[in-house]
Amino acid sequence: MPARAKAAKSSPYQPFVDALHRKQHELLDSYERDKAAGNALPDDGIQDLADKAASAYFKELNFSLSDGERNLLMLIDEAFNRIREGSFGTCTNCGNQIGEKRLSAVPWTPYCIDCQELQEKGLLA
Ligand SMILES: [Zn+2]
Repeated sequence: MPARAKAAKSSPYQPFVDALHRKQHELLDSYERDKAAGNALPDDGIQDLADKAASAYFKELNFSLSDGERNLLMLIDEAFNRIREGSFGTCTNCGNQIGEKRLSAVPWTPYCIDCQELQEKGLLA
């Protein structure tokens, strides 16, 4: 860790926030590229453009991304929520601390390693 940490704003979560943002951009960037290749911007007037853009964007986003990517974006979103609430790093199932190594590898994971195994076996509600 660099001694000269970012002022008061920096939190112990910062490395994870950065990693989450990077992953999120990675997913969204690949989507943007597909979109640019596929079709031009639709021209259906400027009324409610922001709303339309937002809903169309997410509709299309949903359509273009694979299930895995969609799921990952959702997990990333939830991880940001947990960071805001201060519960990040705690397993959402059993409440145990999630290992540092695991968080570094998959900062969006909601589960500790034990619960992840249960989940993969389909034993988690
Ligand atoms: Zn757990």
